Formats: sequence, C-alpha cells, structure tokens
Amino acid sequence: MTSEETTATVLTAETQAALDRAVSSTHRHEALFSDRAFHIKQSAVRDVFDISIRPGLISLAGGSPYLRSLPLAELGLSAQRIIAEHGLEALQYGAGQGMEELRIQACEVMAAEGITDADPADIVITTGSQSAQDVAAKVFCNPGDVVLCEDPTYVGALNAFEAYEVQMHALPVDSEGLVPEALEEAIASLRKQGKTIKMLYIIPSFNNPSGVTLAARRRPRIVEICARANILILEDNPYGMLRFDGNPLVPLRAGNPDDVLYLGSFSKIFAPGVRVGWALVPRHLHRRFYLACEAVVLCPSPLTQMLVSAYLRDYDWMQNIRDSRMLYASRCAAMLAALTEELPDGVSWTVPDGGFFVWLSLPEGVDTYPLLYEAIDAGVVFIPGAAFSPSDEPSNKLRLAFSAVSEEDIAEGVRRLAPVLRRAMDH
Ligand code: PMP
Repeated sequence: MTSEETTATVLTAETQAALDRAVSSTHRHEALFSDRAFHIKQSAVRDVFDISIRPGLISLAGGSPYLRSLPLAELGLSAQRIIAEHGLEALQYGAGQGMEELRIQACEVMAAEGITDADPADIVITTGSQSAQDVAAKVFCNPGDVVLCEDPTYVGALNAFEAYEVQMHALPVDSEGLVPEALEEAIASLRKQGKTIKMLYIIPSFNNPSGVTLAARRRPRIVEICARANILILEDNPYGMLRFDGNPLVPLRAGNPDDVLYLGSFSKIFAPGVRVGWALVPRHLHRRFYLACEAVVLCPSPLTQMLVSAYLRDYDWMQNIRDSRMLYASRCAAMLAALTEELPDGVSWTVPDGGFFVWLSLPEGVDTYPLLYEAIDAGVVFIPGAAFSPSDEPSNKLRLAFSAVSEEDIAEGVRRLAPVLRRAMDH
C-alpha cells in the first residue's frame, strides 16, 4: 500500500465514522422530540410562498397586504425619533402585557368596528395574532379536546391548534357564513361521543381562505349557541376593517365581553413586519392568558409597538385604510371579471365583500393539489384547498389572493390558470 493509499483509506474511514456518528446522533435525537412536535405540519402556504418569488411567476397564492400606500419616508423619521428620544426604553425589555398607550389605541381601533366597551386592562399585546392562537391552544386545550372551526379555515390556526394535539372539527359554511343549525348539531353529536369541546375558532369577516362573511343576523345566534353550551368563542378578525363598501360588520365580541376572546392584528391595517397584534380577553380568563403570553415572549417588542403607536398617533390611519379598501376592492373586481371571462363552466367561486381572498370550487373529484405543479409550469401559483381543512382528504377547492398583485397581473394570472383547470376537468 502506498502512503497516499493509506492516507486515503484512513481519511475515508474517518469520514465514514463521522458520517455514522452524524446519522446515529440524528436518530438518537429524533427520539427526543415530543409527540407534539410530530403534529406540527409544514405549511403549504409557506412552501408556496417560497416558490412564488421565482422570477416570472405570478403569485395569486400569498395574502400579503399592500404596503406602498404607507408613508414610508415619514415612518422612517418616526423610527429615528423613537430611537433618539426613547431609545433606552425602545431597546429595553418592556411590560409583558404590552405598552399601555398602544392598548388604549387598540381600543380605539376596535371602537371603529363597533366594540365600544373594551378596557385596555383586558388587552394583551401579542406578536401578531398568530402567537395569540398558539397561546389560546396552550392555555385552553388538552390533547384530544375539540375546537370547532369553519370549513375551510385559516391554515395557521390549524397548525397552531393541531400542534397541541387538538382535534379540529370543521363545520359547514354557506354564503352567509357558519350555519347555526350545523353548529348546534355538531355540539350535540360530539358531546354524545364524549368529546370535550373547548372553543369555536371563527373568522367572521372575509374568512381566510373562503372570503365568506358571517351575516350580521347570524352573529347573535352563534354567540348564544356557544354561550349556552359553555364554549368559548375565539374571534379572529384581522380583515374586519377591510370591507369594500359600507361600515364594518359588528364583531361577535361587541356586547359579549364574557363569551368571546377577540384577536386583532395590525398586520392588515398597518404592516405585518412589525409583528404586533392584540388579544382582548374576557376578564375572568385574562390572568392565565397573559401569563402564558409572557412565558413565550417575555414581552412584545417595545420598538415595534412604539412604531405602531406612532403611526396611529401621527398619521391618518383611517384614511390609509379607506385607500387600501378601495385598492383591494378594484383588485377583487379585476379578479372576479377575469374569472368570469376565462374559467370554464363548472368552476364556481365566492364573491367577497372585503379582505384578500376568492375561493374556487372545481367539480367533485378534481384534486387541486397536483394542479399546483402544472400551474407553476404555466407561470402562476395558488394555494390548494386541502391546506385549509383539518382532514387530509384531497380537495376540489383552491384559494386565490388578489391583495398583493396588480390588476394586470391578476388578469394574466387567471389567463394562465384557466387552461390548467380546463385540462383537469377534461380528464
Ligand atoms: N388570522 C388570519 C385569519 C390570518 O389570515 C392571518 C394572517 N394571514 C393571521 C391570523 C395571522 O396574522 P398576524 O400577522 O397578526 O400574526
């Protein structure tokens, strides 16, 4: 054996041993995961989000808000002022419950939607409403407990609750939102099976993904059914202010301080990058909820809270909401026109009154998941419907978002999507 061969053999053996160690240590550590960790799913929305940034693709997938109407130059000056004048506070740990000034401002935002009895003391500022969903699952649900939700529902809520081994039970929705009779029947039948139902998770206005809104006349009925059954309502309302026409519908929380835990967010009415939302928690539940929030983040970011607070104090945020509502309304109209123009008979869709999304239904038996790959080849992306359902069944639905794309791109995106759907329906 030459010395080179010896060295090569030694190196190979060493490399092999290192590899073996790495593999076996991966396996060893795999066993350390909690059962819970295996319930945390990869989000189809995040996957598609990564694909969507490829050049040339038109993304009708991501529900990102339009930020170009924000006063960016002025916000830059606000940020500078925050650091210059309040830097030591902004960059220090802050109150676990969040800044009082911002909690008062959150009450003003809610008042604009019809919640007039909110007390800043009952609010916890959260790291987006996503973190509040995680906390809600953590403090209210044991493994095997049931949380009722709409079919379809927000994928992030499914991920948050399922991570705690909660059984999400999806309820039928029609053009007026959650069907009260179906809610009553499900409660009775699940209880008969011995299930513990903890909550109804609901997005009453402009549901993500369906765009459907719970009709005003159904709202008191839903609250009454849940209150009678002692089921807490988790009302997730990030889009409520983004109604295209007329005033926002009054949230379920209005006038029901004990029965509804309300989640608000600045992501869609200001900017998601600040990661600031809030939870308005029934007083008798507040302490444990707040302690759990604190245990996760210690405190919400003082710096971004101050920026949100400055935005609400120094700018005409209502005017910006009015402007963005008009923009979303035109984009939605452009999408509906393109769908009518391009899509074959047999495809139907929801007509939203606000928010970011349109929900398409293809004929029974067509699975939209594999169509995503064909759509990518055709230069357009959407989110397949299965992502928004707790069951792993294939789905004949898909979500299109109009919020983040120009009217021209919406038209072109639908034009690219049409032949993909037509081919699938011809099979
Ligand atoms: N709920 C719904 C219905 C949403 O659509 C989203 C974001 N897409 C969230 C909650 C999470 O929002 P945030 O940025 O406030 O965490």
